[in-house]
Amino acid sequence: MSTVADYSRTEVDGGRRLFSSEWKFLSAASSVASLPRPGRLELAFAGRSNVGKSSLINALAGRRALARTSHTPGRTQELIFFGGPDRLMLVDLPGYGYAAAAKSKVAAWTRLIHTYLRGRSALARVYLLIDARHGLRAADEAILDTLGLAAVSHEIVLTKCDQVSEAELAERCQSVKATMRNRPAAFPDLIATSARTGAGIPALRAAIARLVRERS
Ligand code: GDP
Repeated sequence: MSTVADYSRTEVDGGRRLFSSEWKFLSAASSVASLPRPGRLELAFAGRSNVGKSSLINALAGRRALARTSHTPGRTQELIFFGGPDRLMLVDLPGYGYAAAAKSKVAAWTRLIHTYLRGRSALARVYLLIDARHGLRAADEAILDTLGLAAVSHEIVLTKCDQVSEAELAERCQSVKATMRNRPAAFPDLIATSARTGAGIPALRAAIARLVRERS
C-alpha cells in the first residue's frame, strides 16, 4: 500500500499545491458528441455507485460540494469534468453496477464510458475506487477488463478505510493486489483512503503530482 512516505517532499508539497488551487466544474457529458475538448492531462475516477467517489473528489479538492454526493445510487449518468491548474482535468465517471436503472440506459452509458476510456490520449490514469469493506466485485472486474483492453493506465484506490480494522485493511490490500498482478496495465500499488478522516488523501495528491510531473 503506498503511503505519503513513498513520495518526496516535493511531490507531497506539489500535490497539496495542485489541490489548493481553485477547481471548477467545467462540463457534463451524457453522449460521445458532448465530450469536451481534451484537457492537457486528465485523471478519471471510476467505481461502483456509492463507493464514495464524489466524497473522494471533494476531499482531494478540499471542497465540500465540488462533486455532488448523493444517497441515490445510480443517479449520476454523466461524465463530469472539473478543471484545475495548468489545464488539468478530473473526470468523474458515472457509477456502475446499479441494477435499478433501465437496461437501455445502462447500455448507453456503459458505451459512453468505454468510448471515453478508449479514445482519450490526454487520459493519464484511471483511479478505480473500491470499497475497502467489500474488495473487488464482478462489475469492477468488467471495468478492469475494459481498462486492460484499452491499455489505459489504472490504479486501485480503496475508499472508506475508516470502516475496517487495520488487520482487515491489510488483508484486503493483499487480496486486491494479488488479483491485480495479472493485469499488465494496472499500477501494482494501491492507495487506501478515507474521505471521512482524510487518511490517504495527501498520498493520493502526491501520486497525482508525480504523474503530472512525469507527463509534463
Ligand atoms: P458515490 O456514489 O460513489 O459518489 O458515493 P458518495 O461520495 O455519494 O458516498 C456514498 C456514501 O458513502 C455516502 O453516504 C457517504 O457519506 C459515504 N462515504 C463516502 N466516503 C466515505 C468514507 O470515507 N467513509 C465513510 N464512513 N463513509 C463514506
